[in-house]
Amino acid sequence: MRPDLAPEHVRPLTPDETFRFSCHPGVACFTDCCRQLDLALTPYDALRLSKHLGLTPSTFLDQYVLVEQPEDLGFPQVFLGMVDDGHASCPFVTASGCSVYADRPSACRTYPLGRGAFTTPDGKRHEMHVLLTEPHCKGFNQGTPQDISAWQKDQDLALYNAMNDELLAVLQHPRLKEGHQPEAREVEIFLSLYTLDTFRNLLLDATIALPISVTDSERQQLATDDLALLRLGIRWLNHVLSQH
Ligand code: SF4
Ligand code: SF4
Repeated sequence: MRPDLAPEHVRPLTPDETFRFSCHPGVACFTDCCRQLDLALTPYDALRLSKHLGLTPSTFLDQYVLVEQPEDLGFPQVFLGMVDDGHASCPFVTASGCSVYADRPSACRTYPLGRGAFTTPDGKRHEMHVLLTEPHCKGFNQGTPQDISAWQKDQDLALYNAMNDELLAVLQHPRLKEGHQPEAREVEIFLSLYTLDTFRNLLLDATIALPISVTDSERQQLATDDLALLRLGIRWLNHVLSQH
């Protein structure tokens, strides 16, 4: 999670390997890793955090998020803005820990693992993991041995990974790999995945002809179902990228 992560602190982890790790208020470094970090947010992260805070996704984006355009090709990157307190602290860290723990972002849940996922041409989804053994983290060699699957279950990662993997189909779209730079309209749809309230209003406007088929009952579901709305937005963006 920290920008100064060195290669020697990254070790591939196989599914049957176990590791011991426990983060709790008793560790000397408690909450240290919630400062001076680059914390990328996925649309599902933003949705969960905005709900936790009782904000619309658009307001959450305005108040908490930095959007950066990478120098290389691709969609903008979305980061949680850190507080200017001399430590670049996460806005949600407190002396007693994470104040949004139930809805903390994917990266916070996944740590000390790092996860990569990709889809092969036969449509199968694959994932890889690494163990991030950063020297500042004192949580290693504590607790009982556990494998990747047990850690994901403990951290309630299933839905986070599923939603983030749906987005990967866009981020790993063949056209982007061929060097296509997202056009303004594509960037607009991508960022609308982070502002589902305004996206919903757009979609519910029955006068707008959507470029993908959406039944009347689906339109009704979109009025209240955030996951269905996010999935539709991802499907739409995939469709637009595949048009050329
Ligand atoms: S969201 Fe919570 S766990 Fe993640 S960096 Fe912020 S305070 Fe730490
Ligand atoms: S550095 Fe490691 S042990 Fe310390 S608070 Fe962060 S995750 Fe927990």
